[in-house]
Amino acid sequence: MSFTYFIKRKKISRKIKVLKNTRFEDLNIKAPFLKALTDEGYITPTPIQNETIPFVLQGLDVMGMAQTGTGKTAAFTLPILQKLNANQSVEKARDPRALILAPTRELAIQINDSIRNYGKYIALKHTVIFGGVKQGPQVKLLGKGMDIIVATPGRLLDLINQGFCSLNKIEFFVLDEADRMLDMGFINDIKKVLKLLPNRRQNLLFSATMPKSIATLAGSFLNNAVMVDVS
Ligand code: AMP
Repeated sequence: MSFTYFIKRKKISRKIKVLKNTRFEDLNIKAPFLKALTDEGYITPTPIQNETIPFVLQGLDVMGMAQTGTGKTAAFTLPILQKLNANQSVEKARDPRALILAPTRELAIQINDSIRNYGKYIALKHTVIFGGVKQGPQVKLLGKGMDIIVATPGRLLDLINQGFCSLNKIEFFVLDEADRMLDMGFINDIKKVLKLLPNRRQNLLFSATMPKSIATLAGSFLNNAVMVDVS
């Protein structure tokens, strides 16, 4: 059973569908994240969170059909944070273990902000990379060692080509708003990034629509993926 309620955040009223009879605990979300969710004012999961979180925690590839505003960011960040946290890297100058690609700098910043909010009671390091600004500060942060990188494709490839970032240790790869990515002409950049990822990894793809081009792209890198459709 689902119902709709209003959340007030940053003075914007939004309508978001949540599930009345499910709790984040039922999805096996652990204490530090439950606390962060309570701080955010989230009471129950949204349908995309309810459907996606268990599969990601199980280690499966997921193809999610969901639009912005459905809570899809938490649907992938929460289980990835929980899995990374359960098996933390002790190296200081570590290479990233999770890569989230987004089509625009605004979305990338928003995802990085969500990671900060949901991960505030754990100690994972994350940063955001996008073009149109000087690369110096981003390079400096990468040098400190990051667990998670949220990036737009062009600047990420630039920094990789200059030797400032390696994708050799990626365990989780998320392609967010894949349809917008293709509309914006990122297909070749996505293919280049895919070639740099280790073979053994978990993949998630989110898209609001499912044209043939997305199905083809999904087929090229998802393995036995579960389809979650709340669109
Ligand atoms: P997203 O689709 O990830 O951009 O999320 C849309 C909005 O819903 C954001 O402002 C989130 O903070 C909010 N949100 C995400 N999950 C929940 C939830 N379970 N309960 C209430 N609000 C949520």
